[in-house]
Amino acid sequence: MTLLVQKFGGTSVGNVERIKAVAKRIALCRQSGNDIVVVVSAMGDSTDELTQLASEISNNPCAREMDMLISTGEQVTIALLAIALQEIGIPAKSLTGAQVGIITESKHGKARILEIKTEKIKELIAAGQVVVVAGFQGTSSGKTAEITTLGRGGSDTSAVALATALNADLCEIYTDVPGVFTTDPRKVSDAQLMKKVSCDEMLELASLGAAVLHPRAVEIARNYGVNLVVRSSWDNHAGTILTSEVKKSLGKKGLELSRPVNGIELVENQAVIGLSHIPDQPGIAADLFETLSAGGINVDLIIQSTHHGASNDITFTISEEQLEITKSLCEKLIKKLGGELTTQGQMAKLSIRGAGIMGRPGIAAKFFESLSMSGINLRLIATSEVKVSCVINSELGTKGLRCVSEIFDLKENQITKNPKNESTGEPEVRGIALDPNQVQVSVINIPDIPGSAAIICKSFANSGISLDTIVQSERITDKNGKIISFTLEKSDRINADDALTPLLKMWPNTVIEDGSSIVKISAVGAGMASSIGTAGKMFRALANANINIKMIATSEIRTTCIVSEKDGTKALQEVHNFFELNKS
Ligand code: ASP
Ligand code: MG
Repeated sequence: MTLLVQKFGGTSVGNVERIKAVAKRIALCRQSGNDIVVVVSAMGDSTDELTQLASEISNNPCAREMDMLISTGEQVTIALLAIALQEIGIPAKSLTGAQVGIITESKHGKARILEIKTEKIKELIAAGQVVVVAGFQGTSSGKTAEITTLGRGGSDTSAVALATALNADLCEIYTDVPGVFTTDPRKVSDAQLMKKVSCDEMLELASLGAAVLHPRAVEIARNYGVNLVVRSSWDNHAGTILTSEVKKSLGKKGLELSRPVNGIELVENQAVIGLSHIPDQPGIAADLFETLSAGGINVDLIIQSTHHGASNDITFTISEEQLEITKSLCEKLIKKLGGELTTQGQMAKLSIRGAGIMGRPGIAAKFFESLSMSGINLRLIATSEVKVSCVINSELGTKGLRCVSEIFDLKENQITKNPKNESTGEPEVRGIALDPNQVQVSVINIPDIPGSAAIICKSFANSGISLDTIVQSERITDKNGKIISFTLEKSDRINADDALTPLLKMWPNTVIEDGSSIVKISAVGAGMASSIGTAGKMFRALANANINIKMIATSEIRTTCIVSEKDGTKALQEVHNFFELNKS
């Protein structure tokens, strides 16, 4: 027998008619011989409505009582759905998170799942029941088990975690959209439904994907190799399949790792190439990276930030074997464009990854700090949604790997050294996301000493500010300092000055400079790491549309460009078309 976990979101169970329709759908599936565990959300907007009620009484309601309150939404749905199933002759039983034994951390409002007991559910399945489980909730494991919730949108996480614990054959997320699109269909009318996307890609497409599927659910699927599909409740289309390489078993205790970082990687034999003071105009980055790709150079990290004085610094890393040829190609270009070239071999890239990095500002800071405490200087920094990378001296690579693994408590099977970038036949670009909620800030004239990046990131983190794209450029200012540029959430900008005040006192030359309004455009594809020239194509697409790039930051499977807000939708369309994602 096939065991399915099917999750129905709030809209899909928004009223009694819909609950009846969902029951019919489950019944059909049951009758064709599947065992089914159903996970449901609260009906429609009822979680919002419950939250609203509390806010009419208090500005600052206690977190425990909020969980007590908002967890009731799902309890309504499980009972109604079980009744609907029974009404059409399907034996069904509803269970709350506590009744199942969904054990979580005791953090109210954003608890992570530690363990799911499966005996009760298995017993009911064996007795021929469809089991209907309340999503979004669990109980803490303390002396008095307290009701906890997993964070908004958390029913997806409940479903994938249940599928993991039960070793289900498939987890289906039924929702009110047909699946995951190649870009935002409201902005680009010819966006296509993706047939499949890897969990890694989905995490990097956060601003595109999170509306469809809770990132924590994606991370669980990724870590345990759960077969996962997102599809519409309204029809029978196949939807989008989320793929994952089955990972080494991480052990199902601490199911949702309460650790935000779940992997570290060291790549040795890297070289850093810096082009500084090159013209800041559309097409320069495209020229450079097209030239390199024509020369067969596979570029890894690319970092660019723009500075006043209207010139750019672009820095990138390559494999050290390609240093000589890269150097000669760049020398030719510099002759044409002006600017300076620096190259340096014997570098290494150290990266941490994990969905928990998203929205947790302290993680990058802790990573940088642990390196600086070991006396390791950060040559370059590049970040993506789920990854933070630093380029450091190769001879310190192993030391860095060791101290960071210790700090984040990583096990042997979470540590990777010099992975091979073999082509997997995956597309170089699968989807394009636009994130409009960022502003750009640069901190200029930072003393060029080990640890300064860590100190800045820590100050931001202490004020609860999440840094998104972090770019430390190569340029040394005339005041002998470094420049680090960030993007951060618009709403966090007002706190940034306060966060840095103590530092600015300590470093009298250091200033904060605001960039103009920006958006972040990211192209993501699992095949990017092994294909040559993807970034160049993205830059060309933007150059063709005469769009200037303000910042560039890449990771293996993602290229991100920061462009003016006014260019955002156009940029999204151009890049989407350039990679022919508009064609099905
Ligand atoms: N009912 C919860 C919410 O609205 C959980 C969910 O729907 O996934 O956030
Ligand atoms: Mg949802």
